[in-house]
Amino acid sequence: MDKRQNVKKSYTVVISLALVIIALLIVLIAVVSKKGNSGSRITGDPAVIYSPAVGSDPSGSDGVSGTTPSASDPSDPSATDAQPTAVPTGIPTQVPTAVPTAVPPTDNPTPKPRTIGGKTSANPLYEGKRLVALTFDDGPQEGITNVMLDVLKKHNAKATFFVLGVQLEQEAHRKLLKRASDEGHQIGCHSYTHRFFSKLDDETVKWEVFHTNDVIKEITGQTVTVFRIPGGNKSQRIKDLTQMPIIQWNIDPLDWMLLSGEYIRDYASKHGLSYAEAESAMIDVVLFEGINTTLEGEAYYCPPVAYEMKHGSILLFHDVYSASPKAVDRLLTFLEDNYGNYVFLPFDEFILSENDSGPKPGVVYYNLWSE
Ligand SMILES: [Zn+2]
Repeated sequence: MDKRQNVKKSYTVVISLALVIIALLIVLIAVVSKKGNSGSRITGDPAVIYSPAVGSDPSGSDGVSGTTPSASDPSDPSATDAQPTAVPTGIPTQVPTAVPTAVPPTDNPTPKPRTIGGKTSANPLYEGKRLVALTFDDGPQEGITNVMLDVLKKHNAKATFFVLGVQLEQEAHRKLLKRASDEGHQIGCHSYTHRFFSKLDDETVKWEVFHTNDVIKEITGQTVTVFRIPGGNKSQRIKDLTQMPIIQWNIDPLDWMLLSGEYIRDYASKHGLSYAEAESAMIDVVLFEGINTTLEGEAYYCPPVAYEMKHGSILLFHDVYSASPKAVDRLLTFLEDNYGNYVFLPFDEFILSENDSGPKPGVVYYNLWSE
């Protein structure tokens, strides 16, 4: 009797111990799996090294000149981001194979459409339509502007190219400018050298703008009517000196950073992807997810661009990065497939759709209705 009771007791102890061990194992696996995932999420992963654009990204960002880099430039790519903080301790480096990794899938799922708010055009000609101004800075650039023009043609979209005079010193770029103009796109001035105007005297500022306008007119026959400031920092002095409408933007995909070759290469190596896979993943992030990131301690936010495309928006891209035309193609395809009511107009027509007189000198436009 006693013996049987002892055996029973022993069984109970063994079973209890086994249950405790199983419970501990479950907890351990759950912890490991959580850490394994959170370490490689796209959003909130600021530890991306960003260095000067090379190869297909020769002209730097909107805030950066390929020819005249500036120390005060917020997007100066010469520095690196904050490096990752301490690696979590006590966590096995080998994540169990059953735990899903956060490497983006190579076959990207089809993004879901969302309701996009806001009104549609007040112009009866465009009833029910959303009018958007696509703008491209820092070109023309051989190998990229031509691809962008092909994309725009495919989607029957018209845009505005804010070009640099210095780019037009090359014959190939002059041809691209002529092609853009001949295909119905508007050409705007983005200065001659992309130097920051706050550092230039009045005469030089005027030369940067009006000499570029002359070169554009000589090549295309177009009189330049719109201006975008290098680096985007407006001031009363610039308004007074240029006497032109100043065009800003309200949707910034940060393509100069997020779609640069350097960022994509870094992302590819971090996530074990090919360059093409990383590029595709980053385009998805920019268009459909959005991202918070930092550069030189500065915080940057890219919204999910596709869902921000309201009537009257001005979208900023750069035709100097090879991923940018791919992003524009993907964006316009998505909008056509899911909404079907977008019209992309050259800037003057965009403003004229709701204003009798077109863009006004000295006025700064962030959207169809100015400041
Ligand atoms: Zn620029």
